[in-house]
Amino acid sequence: MPDCIFCKIVAGEIPSRKVAENDHAIAFHDINPEQPVHILVVPKQHYSDVSHLALHESSITAEFMRFVAEVANEQTNGHFRLQFNTGSQAGQTVFHVHGHILSQNPKGSLA
Ligand code: 5GP
Ligand code: ZN
Repeated sequence: MPDCIFCKIVAGEIPSRKVAENDHAIAFHDINPEQPVHILVVPKQHYSDVSHLALHESSITAEFMRFVAEVANEQTNGHFRLQFNTGSQAGQTVFHVHGHILSQNPKGSLA
């Protein structure tokens, strides 16, 4: 998708601090973290938001959620929030679906 910042990150055209990748998704640190752990998880294919993804691509959604859980468990002590801002009025600013993994508790901190 031209001019999509997350498609450019997926393609390596814009650098990111990547923490994990598989064939279908990547995870990287948010450029402006709101919590000690703030990671974005992004499917490599372009879908505008989580509603569009989940309604049209159930198997990709299931595989994506598994990857989210793996990344969250690698990066946190298991206590985290998963947030999908959907629509501009809900705070979505990048229209390529991404889950925010947010946590005060990096891996290794006491549960
Ligand atoms: P949204 O508001 O759409 O849910 O979240 C977009 C997120 O992307 C924001 O938290 C913002 O800080 C992050 N972001 C925007 N541009 C970049 C970028 O070029 N690199 C990285 N790593 N994060 C970005
Ligand atoms: Zn995109």
